[in-house]
Amino acid sequence: MTVKTLADLLDEGVEGRHVLVRSDFNVPLNDAGEITDPGRITASLPTLQALVDADAKVIVMAHLGRPKGEVNSRYSLAPVAEALSDALGQYVALAGDVVGEDAHERANGLTEGDVLLIENVRFDARETSKDEAERGEFADQLAALAADNGAFVSDGFGVVHRAQASVYDIAKRLPAYAGKLVEKEITVLDRTATDPELPYVVVLGGSKVSDKLGVIEALAGKADKLIIGGGMCYTFLAAQGYNTQKSLLQEEMIDTCRDLLSRFGDRIVLPVDLVAAAEFSADAENRVVALDGIPEGWLSPDIGPESVKQFAEVLSDARTVFWNGPMGVFEMEPFSKGTEGVAKAIIDATANGAFSVVGGGDSAASVRVLGLDEDGFSHISTGGGASLEFLEGKELPGVTVLGA
Ligand code: ADP
Ligand code: MG
Repeated sequence: MTVKTLADLLDEGVEGRHVLVRSDFNVPLNDAGEITDPGRITASLPTLQALVDADAKVIVMAHLGRPKGEVNSRYSLAPVAEALSDALGQYVALAGDVVGEDAHERANGLTEGDVLLIENVRFDARETSKDEAERGEFADQLAALAADNGAFVSDGFGVVHRAQASVYDIAKRLPAYAGKLVEKEITVLDRTATDPELPYVVVLGGSKVSDKLGVIEALAGKADKLIIGGGMCYTFLAAQGYNTQKSLLQEEMIDTCRDLLSRFGDRIVLPVDLVAAAEFSADAENRVVALDGIPEGWLSPDIGPESVKQFAEVLSDARTVFWNGPMGVFEMEPFSKGTEGVAKAIIDATANGAFSVVGGGDSAASVRVLGLDEDGFSHISTGGGASLEFLEGKELPGVTVLGA
């Protein structure tokens, strides 16, 4: 990478300096407001710990959910502050505001090795404003928290594809560096993006074809095989003429899928059987059916066992694997077999020497929820959209700006 990294910053010296860090703490919460998967917090620790150990005064910026520019206690970073305190083994104070009086007082009061978290940056509408001047004004206020001689470390890989104030504009106002997580993600993804060892097998799933069209287009030309399962496969099956009944379907994408099939049909691998369920519920009646066998009024929440077998066969001699998107509604136990089976096949391929990358928030969560070995994959990316955009060959503004 041609950007400055945390190692450079540590070389320059950070003792007593305010260092603003953008982390990605956009963790899933349950109805009780508890964190159900702390993966992103864990991934932020190496950078934060290194700054603490070097006696910096650390100020962390992050967002949670979509509060849409308004203060909303439901999206407070309080549970994150608590989890981060536990993980770092030291008290992490949470400011009562984003760039208000409390944040400034607390930032001024930091001593060497302290960590302060400011409130959800998306409580302020300027964070995500399309107007550069508005974002710039907010970025000025964020930069002011770092006082004189401050620095900025970009470590929220999940947001580097967004030109937002705490990701992008701030980097133009302070000496800026890539954190350890961003550096690692870019290095690893680059290995799949440029010159992957062949055969290269891409596994795509998840809910919407439209979300992943760009990556299908970009990867269909590069990958030897493109396995498609999950909620997006039904639009492809519909394009082949199957009646998918009440399964997830993006009608307006059927023509696009037909076109993709005609151009890349020899590379695209679709399911050969499905699980059908009477309704979208974990305790609904369900059975394995052929592609043309979804009973009237039923839907398909998962791929079938024969599909898992065939997908596993394709994966067995892969040397590079990129997986994004669950194969079924893994959140419901009866419909988690497809995702589990494919994940295990990728773990097996990895054990046989393949380089495997998992990208996507839900895909990464599924690995943990299903109790699979995270170390069985070469890399689990913390950024869904960011990893997809990187593989599509798009520029990541939050990374590009670090080199400016
Ligand atoms: P990621 O976050 O890994 O990129 P997506 O957000 O695209 O993945 O998709 C994840 C969601 O897709 C999951 O919540 C899962 O329940 C849903 N999904 C997968 N298969 C199906 C299906 N057959 N029907 C409905 N939803 C599905
Ligand atoms: Mg998702």
